[in-house]
Amino acid sequence: MFKNKKFFVLGMGKSGISVAKLLAPDNEVLITDVKCDDFKLIKELEDLGISVVITKEQEEVFNSSFDYVVKNPGVKLDHPVVLRANRLGIPVITELEVGYLYLPKVKIIGITGSNGKTTTTTLIYEMLKAASLPVHLAGNIGIPLCGIIDKIKEGDILVIEVSSHQLVNLDKFKADVSVLTNLSEVHLDHFGTYENYKKTKMRIFNNQTDKDLAILNGGDSEVVRLTKNIPSRKLYFSSVSSEADIYFNGSGIVYKGEEIVNVSDIRVKGVHNYENIMAAILVSFEFGVSLDAIKEVLNNFAGVPHRLEFVTKIHGRDFYNDSKATNVKSTITALNSFDNDVILILGGLDRGHSFDGLKPYLKHVTNIVCYGETKNRIKDFAEKCNIDVTVTDNLEEATKAAYNISSEGDTILLSPACASWDQFKSFEERGDEFKNIVESFK
Ligand code: ADP
Repeated sequence: MFKNKKFFVLGMGKSGISVAKLLAPDNEVLITDVKCDDFKLIKELEDLGISVVITKEQEEVFNSSFDYVVKNPGVKLDHPVVLRANRLGIPVITELEVGYLYLPKVKIIGITGSNGKTTTTTLIYEMLKAASLPVHLAGNIGIPLCGIIDKIKEGDILVIEVSSHQLVNLDKFKADVSVLTNLSEVHLDHFGTYENYKKTKMRIFNNQTDKDLAILNGGDSEVVRLTKNIPSRKLYFSSVSSEADIYFNGSGIVYKGEEIVNVSDIRVKGVHNYENIMAAILVSFEFGVSLDAIKEVLNNFAGVPHRLEFVTKIHGRDFYNDSKATNVKSTITALNSFDNDVILILGGLDRGHSFDGLKPYLKHVTNIVCYGETKNRIKDFAEKCNIDVTVTDNLEEATKAAYNISSEGDTILLSPACASWDQFKSFEERGDEFKNIVESFK
């Protein structure tokens, strides 16, 4: 806990606001952002004694009198304030670290990885909840830990999604159980090199001892290699090797030589999701959750919204919302999850990226429907692949067109391989609109 310290909170996102509010009663807090037109919020913070400074030149209001900088995870590591704090020897920390220092004695499950964090975090939370355990959800999933401190009691369990950006500035934070889902080359704009990014990811095991547990993807050679020397007790999941503690054998999940879950017990699709599920099962077993409770969750869990989320079935057509797929790689992951005929809706913001990477994965795709800024480039791509293509102007027309050309037994999949910003504020807004359009077909 902090008392009578002076904090410089960089960034007025959800996490910055919650950390400022937590610290304000006992400390001097300044929060700053380059813009904020929410005057009600500014007034609320000022009423709590927090100084709010909206400026493009944040380094102008920063000086050596501050004891700590709390950096929003999204703020770049070479931000002038961060660089100056480093020069002055002022610690730069994150909201998660502050929240951690305010916790009573609890158990922490920390989940990180390049892909699957939110899905795995949600599954673990749902499974522990199904066993009536005192569990809270927090972290990068959109729930700042500092915002829920007053709800947490001694003995509770916290399931925390931890992004690489949060890991950079963690120091005392320790997870009793840490999960590393996988590693791939992402966020290089932020971390410079893949080596640097991987080194940052390894911080999820910081402060762990042989009394703590690490749950690792045994099918990911980089994960296995990099965790070789961590002191934590290790358990592995894998979709490629039966050597792991829990593995996927093509038709079900095998634990201690026995198939404990069949794919028919699981509502979400895709081997990548079975990996997330296996990680969640290992965590759940560690907390004594019964297989019945786990299966109940797997039967009901339709996926995290916008991540290959099952929307509904209408006249024998399954609709899936994968609006989070803002690049070709994510769309490939989605396409690998289906073995029936798929009508694929593609399109969105044009970043000039190529769609060619999709070509080997189109064997179940009977039609492509495209819309948005990229529609003409997608049309050319579909023609090159000899796939029937329908060009439309927006998501509503695209979804209607996809429904019109579909037959019973088809899957209609929105997995756009493009960012949403040509026609939407966010991938969430795009996915919600898709779901609304689909519901209107009923
Ligand atoms: P994150 O929180 O790490 O961004 P999500 O759970 O939100 O991950 O999933 C985002 C997308 O990443 C999914 O739509 C899917 O395309 C892909 N994905 C999810 N889990 C995995 C996994 N275990 N391996 C590879 N890709 C995955």
